Amino acid sequence: MATNGSERPLRFAVIGAGMSGVLAAIKLREAGYTDVVLYEKADRLGGTWRENTYPGIACDVPSHLYSYSFEPNPKWSHHYSPGGEIQGYFESVARKYGVEKQIRFGQEIERLEWKDGRWQLETRTGMRDQADVVIAATGVLHHPNMPDIAGLESFAGACFHSARWDHSVPLDGKRVGVVGTGSTAVQIVSALVDRVAKLELFQRTAQWVLAQVNPAYTREEQQTFARDPKSLAEMRANMSKLFSDTFSNAVVDANSPQIKMIEEQCRLNLETNVKDPVLREKLRPNYRAACKRLVISPDFYQAIQRPNAELVTSGIERVEPKGVRTKDGRLHELDVLVLATGFRADRFMRPAKVVGRGSVQLDEVWAKRPSAYLSVSIPGFPNFFMLNGPNGPVGNFSLIEVAELQMAYILQLVESLRAGRCREVSASAKASQAFEAARTEAAKGAIWSTGCKSWYLDDRGIPASWPWTFDRFREEMARPKLEAYEQRA
Ligand code: NAP
Repeated sequence: MATNGSERPLRFAVIGAGMSGVLAAIKLREAGYTDVVLYEKADRLGGTWRENTYPGIACDVPSHLYSYSFEPNPKWSHHYSPGGEIQGYFESVARKYGVEKQIRFGQEIERLEWKDGRWQLETRTGMRDQADVVIAATGVLHHPNMPDIAGLESFAGACFHSARWDHSVPLDGKRVGVVGTGSTAVQIVSALVDRVAKLELFQRTAQWVLAQVNPAYTREEQQTFARDPKSLAEMRANMSKLFSDTFSNAVVDANSPQIKMIEEQCRLNLETNVKDPVLREKLRPNYRAACKRLVISPDFYQAIQRPNAELVTSGIERVEPKGVRTKDGRLHELDVLVLATGFRADRFMRPAKVVGRGSVQLDEVWAKRPSAYLSVSIPGFPNFFMLNGPNGPVGNFSLIEVAELQMAYILQLVESLRAGRCREVSASAKASQAFEAARTEAAKGAIWSTGCKSWYLDDRGIPASWPWTFDRFREEMARPKLEAYEQRA
């Protein structure tokens, strides 16, 4: 978009160079903004796909949907492609659009303060900067949840969190323990079971597992995608609609026929694929499918039934130098202990200190729990926007499509700044309170509220995610309701 002399030049700081940060840089450039800098704490872009390199990592959203809409990738190897390939995709898109040049690597934002009508930024290394607009693209699940297990530090073997995989540790022929039964643990178990001497999975809570075949795309299919981008776009649109209809819209309505179908598919997967009735009952959750984030796997049940695999359901008492002692008194001797224990889902851009108008600290505003108007804006924090912030459809949909819709929405708000209609824009307290009240009420009807513990739930046990359909999210993101925003000259 061309600018004219009377328009206000804007400087943007984007925090984080993962999927959302790279997207923000591309879309800002497309909208005609050239003064854009990305701050990235690591020495490489990619966010979650850079940090998670555990064996078996893949994305359980179809690859042709888990891609930017404007950068279809005819070369995806599988329907659900592995993590390394996804990381490579983001790096190649960033390269193609010249985003890397805009990134300051190794610079973690430590403090952001709204002062004299601009954001003052400071990084952990002491670098300072100023920006008119900040876009926090800091991700959701990135602070590992380290379990509070007695004696963990006494373990004589190698022990690490799944998101901090130590690739120097040999695994072949070793005795490996995995703590946790979420999407991560399940992928690790399937990938490792045939490599290790013994694999013990420490399960605190059983998970429902949806079976999902994952065929490779043939060369011919990839060539057809490359030759015919229109068919690729159509396929993406169909996948998006199917995902919405069968999953996103199902999880927000615990009584929907679609959620009952998912429950039935999970139950059938368990009944059909786990032969031993004792093991089957150990693997059967006592809550409804998709209440916790649904685990999707082509082969977990097969993996856990291998002769060298064991599902341990007696709780962990403590960790000892030789292994894990369970509550039944048994010592499980191990060489490697993997903590697939998830993430602290309420962190967002923290631990950065964010100070808004009138010296208000974000940590105070979020003392109980993080919240944001439509997931993108916080009252009292002008010209500060989030991609995949709190209360968005995290867990319901491809986060790429979520971020794309949010970015298009944010650009419309920023347009008010560029055109000089205002100098500061942030959600009004009234609109935020009304949104929060409606959201928490609607969340009661979601499957996440039906009686399980999960990272979807806030400190009150209320789901923090977007509780309406994805179509409604799309409609909300199409055009900001300016009356919900406080615009100051
Ligand atoms: P998670 O779903 O939060 O699972 C953590 C697991 O660790 C749970 O089984 C939990 O048990 C267990 N745990 C935590 N603390 C424990 C303790 N002190 N003792 C014993 N067990 C403990 O974490 P995740 O598997 O890393 O997945 C996080 C999210 O990342 C997923 O929900 C998904 O959204 C995303 N993800 C996506 C993909 C993908 O393919 N797209 C792949 C991996 C992850 P309880 O259930 O009893 O709490």
